[in-house]
Amino acid sequence: MAPTYDVIVLGLGGMGSAAAYHLSLRGSRVLGLEKFGPAHNRGSSHGGSRITRQSYFEDPAYVPLLLRSYELYDKLAHDSGRRITELCGGVMIGRPESRTVSGSLRSARQWDLPHEMLDAREIRRRFPTLTPEDDEVALYEERAGFVRPEFTVAAHIQLAQQAGAELRFEEPVVRWEELPGGRGVRVHTAEDTYTAGHLVVCPGAWAPRLLTDMGVPFTVERQIMYWFRPREGTRPFESARHPVYIWEDAEGTQIYGFPAIDGPDGGAKVAFFRRGTVCTPETIDRTVHDHETEAMRRHLADRIPDLPGTCLKAVTCMYTTTADEHFVMARHPAHPGTVTVACGFSGHGFKFVPVVGEIVADLALDGETAHPIDLFDPRRLSAAAV
Ligand SMILES: Cc1cc2nc3c(=O)[nH]c(=O)nc-3n(C[C@H](O)[C@H](O)[C@H](O)COP(=O)(O)OP(=O)(O)OC[C@H]3O[C@@H](n4cnc5c(N)ncnc54)[C@H](O)[C@@H]3O)c2cc1C
Repeated sequence: MAPTYDVIVLGLGGMGSAAAYHLSLRGSRVLGLEKFGPAHNRGSSHGGSRITRQSYFEDPAYVPLLLRSYELYDKLAHDSGRRITELCGGVMIGRPESRTVSGSLRSARQWDLPHEMLDAREIRRRFPTLTPEDDEVALYEERAGFVRPEFTVAAHIQLAQQAGAELRFEEPVVRWEELPGGRGVRVHTAEDTYTAGHLVVCPGAWAPRLLTDMGVPFTVERQIMYWFRPREGTRPFESARHPVYIWEDAEGTQIYGFPAIDGPDGGAKVAFFRRGTVCTPETIDRTVHDHETEAMRRHLADRIPDLPGTCLKAVTCMYTTTADEHFVMARHPAHPGTVTVACGFSGHGFKFVPVVGEIVADLALDGETAHPIDLFDPRRLSAAAV
């Protein structure tokens, strides 16, 4: 008997909802299966905002994907009628030799991206809330800003359904196996069993459990986002005036933050980048403790003195990190004929969500993509390769 669906997508968070949409657009019969509800806050795609930028300090190889992602984000906003992206500008601050500054400059130069270099005095003049040390500089990128993660997921879900995808929520996948002769997959949930020609796995922080036979180690980390109320009368935190920022100190610790995107009562969000504690989706401590908030307050005191007043709220979120902090996007090495994976986004994946959807659709339907994704081959991370 022929499989019922062309493609089953496991996980409808950031990446899976985009994949379901792009697959449906191409005429595939798609079934999406999600453990929780639509645009939920138990994984990695919640918290109101995600930085987007193009002068990518992590590696210039990401830039072509970002250029495409910006186009697809615009199309997503247009097609869904939602306001998803706001390009308020962004500053990457640190010493000139820091990874944040030197890596951003490398990408900007290599790809000829519009940017400006600001010295400490110019940073303070243009953005009076930021008080860098005299030896710190910034790369300013006009086309940086933020995207709204919940709106992005909701838009992809809405458009995927309009394109004919069947999306089932509160229905976790329990296990799956290949059909005889590699004709596809059989996927079991608590409710039912489904068959499809291909399976796309976008499991977020559940990757270590769901992708054991890939042989790639992932580390799941608990991260905290804080919203501080700007001091009275500090209108500069409005997003028309305030950039997003990533700020690296002399020890290499990075923080990043946003304007008060929902007004002063909503607070301005700030977080440490890549300084989490190891956890699992089952064991994560969702309570944020006073000593954690105090550590952030101390870190902000000299840098953004108008910010660390009242902490309005603090919320946890998970990163799923690979050893080199680059993504995993490929056909599954152990099931190349039937399974595609997109995971290990290492705390910097959201700005790529729409282009990941496009790449996953290419890989699932054609086995290859014209996008440059050599960096994301899981075989680089497998136990044998290390
Ligand atoms: C605090 C924080 C700040 C971040 N900041 C930025 C930023 O500024 N810029 C940026 O680009 N990126 C940022 N990121 C990273 C980005 O948000 C993630 O890379 C991205 O959200 C990952 O998407 P995902 O689809 O892999 O995971 P998720 O969105 O978590 O989706 C995985 C889905 O799989 C589902 N699932 C799991 N197991 C099953 C199962 N058995 N059956 C069915 N469904 C299942 C889960 O319920 C979940 O919905 C940040 C992340 C965090 C946590």
